[in-house]
Amino acid sequence: MYDLKGKKGLVVGVANQHSIAFSCAQMLYEQGAELIVSYANEKTAPFIQPLQDALPSVLFKQCDVSCDEQLASLAAIARSEFGNIDFVIHSVAFAPKEDLKGRLIDAHRAGFQLAMDVSCLSFIRLIRLLEPILNPASSLITMSYLGGARAVQNYGLMGPIKASLESSVRYMALELGQQGHRVNALSPGPIKTRAASGLKDFDLLLERSEHKSPLKRNLSPEDVAGAAVFLVSDLSMAITGSTLYVDNGYHAVD
Ligand code: NAD
Repeated sequence: MYDLKGKKGLVVGVANQHSIAFSCAQMLYEQGAELIVSYANEKTAPFIQPLQDALPSVLFKQCDVSCDEQLASLAAIARSEFGNIDFVIHSVAFAPKEDLKGRLIDAHRAGFQLAMDVSCLSFIRLIRLLEPILNPASSLITMSYLGGARAVQNYGLMGPIKASLESSVRYMALELGQQGHRVNALSPGPIKTRAASGLKDFDLLLERSEHKSPLKRNLSPEDVAGAAVFLVSDLSMAITGSTLYVDNGYHAVD
């Protein structure tokens, strides 16, 4: 598809074989990229072994992105393994269940702060730590959702957090553009993953997405991975500061 031989990078946020991050890692690997993949904690570890088997030669590392020391240690591993890197895929989100299920205006201060820290600030901090080892024209990608641009029923506090993430993408694109780095968000439609299962009435969202989207098809993590491969490749050299919808066109219609 695209030749990514010689490209090196990080994929952050694999939990199991359904994770968007895993599909991204798999497709990047198939195109010849060299990767380090990270997962959150020891609770996720049992699901990681089969993924490691599927991606031999890929280094898997544990990293809780809400912890500065662990972010720094991931950046140090990237430096020692690769020297410099060419891309980062940040595919991480979290909100405490109680806050995620409720209304935005009922969110607890601590829950909102934790969700913002893990789902938005971690992207900014990770890129700050990796900046010294980014090759010119690196591609830095995070995952957003339509709920950041519009109020989507049951998306609650994650909406303003994704809005902040998309705004951060624009500012980071501005700040890092001089070195040729591109910073973009992918905005997938609903896909059944562990993170998505925390949302109230997620099945309704899935149904609506399939029936209302112009392409009238289910979305898969591989659809998102294809867009990630394009953004990592040199064919997307002129794309930065964007939120690219990968949602069968759902965002464009009423
Ligand atoms: P997922 O559960 O597979 O991935 C979410 C990841 O975040 C998991 O690997 C989890 O371990 C990780 N994570 C949570 N807290 C963390 C922490 N403190 N440190 C490190 N990692 C942590 O689900 P997914 O759907 O693949 O989600 C990936 C991204 O895609 C998220 O940003 C999500 O908001 C976004 N997204 C998902 C959908 C969807 O419908 N699945 C749609 C649009 C956007």
